[in-house]
Amino acid sequence: MSVPVEVRAPIGADQTAIVWSDGTTSEIPNELMRGYCPCAGCQGHSGQVRFRAGGNPTIDSIAEVGSYALSFQWGDGHDSGIYTFDFLKRLGDIAKTGGARGALSR
Ligand SMILES: [Zn+2]
Repeated sequence: MSVPVEVRAPIGADQTAIVWSDGTTSEIPNELMRGYCPCAGCQGHSGQVRFRAGGNPTIDSIAEVGSYALSFQWGDGHDSGIYTFDFLKRLGDIAKTGGARGALSR
């Protein structure tokens, strides 16, 4: 599994760059990440994660969760989404292909 070796989320930027241990980089618009917040509050308890528009996409802080995920605190204080590395990689792939907003598995 790839793990992040560097996360770049400059204040004021509208996307986050994650450099992975396999040498690839994911550039993910913050709005896309916020819309795909995988927490139960945003998604309910269905198995799939769908894009939900309307959340505040400003990143206030980023924390590592164990050694498998990141969590983000968004501009409106929301911070319950656990973004696994694999999930973030798939968000990077969605961003690369133009941001088609289908459902993702967690
Ligand atoms: Zn959420």
